[in-house]
Amino acid sequence: MQISLEISPDKKYNFPLDISTVEFEGKYIIIAVKEANWIVLNSLDELDAFEKLKVKKVAEVYGEVDTGVLMRTLLQLEAKQFEVFTAEEEDIERGLCLYLTTKCNMCCIHCYMYAGEAQEKELNTIEITKLLDDFVEYGGKKLTISGGEVVIRPDFETIVKHAKSRGLLITVLTNGVLWDSGLIQALNGYIDEVQVSIDGYDKSTYNAVRKFGFDEATQAVEAFLQAGYKTTIAITPLAANLDNEVDKYVLFASDWLNRWINSGLSIKFSHEILRGRNVNPTDITNQQYRYYIEQIVERLYPNNKLNSFVINRRSRRRFKNCGFGEISVQSNGDVYFCNRVFELPAIANIRSMPFGEIMNLSRCARKMSEVDNLKPCSNCEIRYICGGGCRIKYFSSITNCNDLNVLSIDNIPARECCYNEKMEFYRLMIDTNELLYCDYDSKNNSCCR
Ligand code: SF4
Ligand code: SF4
Repeated sequence: MQISLEISPDKKYNFPLDISTVEFEGKYIIIAVKEANWIVLNSLDELDAFEKLKVKKVAEVYGEVDTGVLMRTLLQLEAKQFEVFTAEEEDIERGLCLYLTTKCNMCCIHCYMYAGEAQEKELNTIEITKLLDDFVEYGGKKLTISGGEVVIRPDFETIVKHAKSRGLLITVLTNGVLWDSGLIQALNGYIDEVQVSIDGYDKSTYNAVRKFGFDEATQAVEAFLQAGYKTTIAITPLAANLDNEVDKYVLFASDWLNRWINSGLSIKFSHEILRGRNVNPTDITNQQYRYYIEQIVERLYPNNKLNSFVINRRSRRRFKNCGFGEISVQSNGDVYFCNRVFELPAIANIRSMPFGEIMNLSRCARKMSEVDNLKPCSNCEIRYICGGGCRIKYFSSITNCNDLNVLSIDNIPARECCYNEKMEFYRLMIDTNELLYCDYDSKNNSCCR
């Protein structure tokens, strides 16, 4: 990228007040903490130029430091809009995850919903449409419908069509086995994305998890794609043998991507195995699991980690939380603040609490679990870039609590965050720095991107 600098010699920078400097692998990352923005300086000389620019006009610094050093420092400042960049407050996700039923035609060994039989007193059609109406009234935009197997519900089509009539963006998670061409046709245009779980690279690995259904599920994916649905194949490989199966998963996924190039097909791999029916992973098994999954994903989508980081940072938001606080409703109406409902206490039930009160509780849960209220994150210079991590994993005193009023920053145990975890962020910040240069218009101080 070519950037031309037009800076008045009389310019005196007015940098954000909250600046932190991190020395990492011979470079200096200067972080504007509140703005979740940073620059990368390559030497002590550039750091010296930056320190001088804090207090002196450009012309004064020009006389004191090497011209090349000054130019490189100014380039960083302008290209990352270090002086004027303002991050936006994180918008509370307007999403709802709705588990329609726990009834399922399958009995997968890793199912974290322990699905099979329907729950007692599952919500009926009227209760669900009322919930969707309330959700829209309170600003809801996105709906994820999951199960059990959603298609089992006789009113599935009615519910999807009602949700779409209220303007919701709808994602449906399914095992794909029970769809027929009539249903695919009937819901075409109503579902914004369908995710089909295919947890193996062939019939035998699939059956090790799901026992049957490989042909039906893959045929459903083909039918969705032919009908023009935005389709995702969601894969949760078993952990055992994954070290020997990396190539096979890459082949399986690339075959799909090549055959359906430009169709909008995505392949998504789980990065973690959740505790489920017959699986109880440890941190170590999940660490190894993530290592192999990252290899698969990087081969399918080169530079995926960097690209995802760049996409997130271009949103110009302060990340203050993970998804915790967003409302999930179980099939019996119980309300949770994360979709891992079997790991959390229910906060309320939609049959006994008005939706407005549930929304207030959700806002309160998000606020309470923001990085500013957690240790050690509240003092961390990259807290609005990192967001603090999974609240279930690291702050279980929040996620296990059903009365948020009893919590405060002093009685929530601090999470462990080792230098290695921070290093991963520092490295990403350095590696993506130039990809995040703004198309800087020096005349009106605006970023065109
Ligand atoms: S608590 Fe963990 S699982 Fe739940 S939304 Fe946050 S990151 Fe996701
Ligand atoms: S988890 Fe670690 S890196 Fe992330 S905000 Fe907290 S202290 Fe910082």
